[in-house]
Amino acid sequence: MKRRTFLRNSLAVGVSGALGTLAGCGFKSSEPQSPVTFAPGQAMPWINWAGNQSCTPDWRFSPTSEDELIAALKSAKGVVRAVGAGHSFSAVVPTDDTLISTDLLSGLVRHDPEKMQATLLAGTRLHDMGPLLQSVGQAIPNMPDMDYPALGGAIANSVHATGTSFGSMSSYVVGMKLATVSGELLECNAETNTEIFQAARTSIGALGIMSEITLQNHPSYDLTEVNKVEKMEDVFAEMEARCKAHRHFECFPIPYSSLCVTVATDIARPGDKTIGEDDPQAVNSFRKVFESVSWVPLVGQALYEKVLATALGGMEEVIRTGPAYQVFPHVRMVRFREMEYTVPAEAGPACTREILDTIKAKNLPLCFPLEYRYVKADDIWLSMFEGQDGCSISVHQYGDLDYKAVFAEIELIFWKYGGRPHWGKIHTLGEKQLTQLYPRHWQDFQEVRRELDPQGKLMNAHLKALFGA
Ligand SMILES: Cc1cc2nc3c(=O)[nH]c(=O)nc-3n(C[C@H](O)[C@H](O)[C@H](O)COP(=O)(O)OP(=O)(O)OC[C@H]3O[C@@H](n4cnc5c(N)ncnc54)[C@H](O)[C@@H]3O)c2cc1C
Repeated sequence: MKRRTFLRNSLAVGVSGALGTLAGCGFKSSEPQSPVTFAPGQAMPWINWAGNQSCTPDWRFSPTSEDELIAALKSAKGVVRAVGAGHSFSAVVPTDDTLISTDLLSGLVRHDPEKMQATLLAGTRLHDMGPLLQSVGQAIPNMPDMDYPALGGAIANSVHATGTSFGSMSSYVVGMKLATVSGELLECNAETNTEIFQAARTSIGALGIMSEITLQNHPSYDLTEVNKVEKMEDVFAEMEARCKAHRHFECFPIPYSSLCVTVATDIARPGDKTIGEDDPQAVNSFRKVFESVSWVPLVGQALYEKVLATALGGMEEVIRTGPAYQVFPHVRMVRFREMEYTVPAEAGPACTREILDTIKAKNLPLCFPLEYRYVKADDIWLSMFEGQDGCSISVHQYGDLDYKAVFAEIELIFWKYGGRPHWGKIHTLGEKQLTQLYPRHWQDFQEVRRELDPQGKLMNAHLKALFGA
């Protein structure tokens, strides 16, 4: 039976039918669905995908050319921020002064079939990038499991996927053009403006706005992805072997259970077929079951685990196959908020076990599956993977529920394991701790930042806290 059918059946018949979804036993929504109100006649508020960040910029502008971008940056009043697709959970975008959207800077600029490189405008959304690269026989070596971001927004935050042999998206950048607040357009690559290049490959939008980005690609390829439910400890026991055996391997540990969903992705073989279908609402099913049973005194947690084991135990594999740019991303229909830290790769299992144990021991209202991925080390100054192979562990909370209290509990665990926060996801670290997490190049980055933006025009409140600016 498919995951979708089984989970929904178990809800309808097994759990809710037997126990009833008693009034008052569900989570209480505590987060406003939209933190902004729009008053006609007033400036239009900006809001991020997750609905937890907003601002009301005095001036918004979408340049259609590099000349317009440079002019806008130079003449902008107050704090200037760039926005790609607004898919960051952290406050990297908000400004009530000037917001520059890269939406209209989109498309393929040129490609080099010999070097297997392609240059795209920085506002190109990842879902447009895939077909554009495919049209010239190229594909990015790795991609995250959703394709909504703009290329520039993804590079600014070192967006990553999974695979022990693959770095973050920033690690595939071999060149860029960077527009600065002083009105320059800098070519940056390994030979020209090399220090700026090292800083700008993960800049959190603190150095200027990239207009073009050149990627080192692979010849286009097809993938086959296999999803199945397994025991978390069995997966941990074989983690190294699994990561070696598959081009990409990740898992989604399920809180309050001993189970996880594993995703193994490899180059497609002739005859591979799509079997079954993804259920973008599956996380809502977890929540319904959890709300139905977890309140039961003394046995709630055990009951939840039992229902899940029954519901998920008999599930068949879901297999997806096709061009890489179609297989990597998944549809996200459930709004959530996310915190992610990257710990040293070898600390991944212990850190994850401690998170799962803490959720259970403290009875935290957190049943959204975690995400567990590996990323190869790189040499990019502020990349979460700088100098060390990383294990990126994400914790999510449903968009209408309080995330601050539960994330605060889990964040302590990430700190214990020396975790570096994802720049685009929720965390509470400031300059003091971050300097220590990036001992090699934190100061180098600050020097480049001060050189390119001496007046701090690009510093909103969040970036000021990050950089102590
Ligand atoms: C549903 C969902 C799933 C996600 N999955 C993943 C995942 O699998 N892996 C992962 O790593 N992250 C993931 N994220 C996080 C997200 O991909 C990152 O936060 C990403 O940076 C968002 O890109 P964006 O285009 O929306 O950028 P925005 O959020 O709009 O901006 C991010 C930063 O980039 C800067 N910026 C934007 N464009 C430029 C430019 N041209 N030049 C310079 N700076 C610029 C902005 O000023 C800001 O500082 C996910 C987020 C969501 C909502």
